[in-house]
Amino acid sequence: MTTTTGPAHARLPLLVLGAGRDLASERGVECPGDLPAPSDPDLVARARAARAALGDRVFVLGHHYQRDEVIEFADVTGDSFKLAKEAAARPDAEWIVFCGVHFMAESADILTSDAQTVILPDLAAGCSMADMAAIDQVEECWDELVEAGVAEATVPVTYMNSSAAIKAFTGRHGGTICTSSNAKTALTWALEKAGAGGKVLFLPDQHLGRNTYARDLGGSLDDCVVWDPHRPMGGLTPEQLRDATMILWRGHCSVHGRFTVDAVEAARRTIPGVKVIVHPECRNEVVELADEVGSTEKIIKTIAAAPAGTAWAVGTELNLVQRLAAQFPEQQIAFLEKNVCYCSTMNRIDLPHLVWALESLVEGRVVNTIRVDDQVAHDARVALDQMLALPGETSKD
Ligand code: SF4
Repeated sequence: MTTTTGPAHARLPLLVLGAGRDLASERGVECPGDLPAPSDPDLVARARAARAALGDRVFVLGHHYQRDEVIEFADVTGDSFKLAKEAAARPDAEWIVFCGVHFMAESADILTSDAQTVILPDLAAGCSMADMAAIDQVEECWDELVEAGVAEATVPVTYMNSSAAIKAFTGRHGGTICTSSNAKTALTWALEKAGAGGKVLFLPDQHLGRNTYARDLGGSLDDCVVWDPHRPMGGLTPEQLRDATMILWRGHCSVHGRFTVDAVEAARRTIPGVKVIVHPECRNEVVELADEVGSTEKIIKTIAAAPAGTAWAVGTELNLVQRLAAQFPEQQIAFLEKNVCYCSTMNRIDLPHLVWALESLVEGRVVNTIRVDDQVAHDARVALDQMLALPGETSKD
């Protein structure tokens, strides 16, 4: 199951792994059955054989931040929303094996039919950003906004990188989901809906919310406040809440939040003619210094369209940057920040887990199913459908 619940005192400050049921221990790290050893020289052959045996009954999705060894077996690659839509477009596939993280598999389950089963090869593949907004914290926040007299004028906008429970909250309160591709459109819609003096509660990535408001819509940083879920009233006064236009949840990406101004300046010093391109989950001061800002899909398209010989310093997940460097050898592609690592939870999905999931299906065992509660799925779908109904929202990726 998918919702993260539990009394506030029992919750870890940061739920680092997966579904959030067993808060006292590392979750989802055991695979019942035989997980192949990473050193098994037959892993690639075993993955190919299992894929061939399953044929069109299985559809494998690979997020851009996955390892090469996994991407090799993906039927399609993309960002989270593109992959969920791809899954929904394959109603004949009985099993959707999602090589990504937990919230992505939840979205795929919401958007696919009841006859399809979504499988996450390693249940420990969570997302630290999504885990920074637990549903009881968000409900508490809303109650406090009601108390402060601002909830009525507040529209929630929730990033795709969130649990199904938070998406469902957004649906129940008349908000919308957004992706890093359409955040500007989503925020424009929400601010219009909120009306004069209205507000947006942006969940769970403060950086995407701040960057979209300030950089894309020309808003002032002074209009933004940060809601800290670990402090009463989010650490804010009623006056601060009343004066704010953007109430930003205090969440961030553990990967993109680590890129620094120093790294941008170092790239400019050391790489002649370099263009810096970063993801909007990076901090505002980094985004402000970059030449280009965009989702993973935009980063890929921008680099693919650039003339040969262009030098790039890229601020996004390392697996993708390495793949871009291999794919476009005519360009000079560098990773922006030497102190940033791979996304550790994304990298939980490796070839042994993928082989284990596929071979289990061949043997008739469906493992690591991700199934969202019906009511949660219904409410989350309302918010996802609102996103799809945004102006110009046809095939965003
Ligand atoms: S890169 Fe960041 S947002 Fe994406 S899965 Fe990893 S922690 Fe979550």
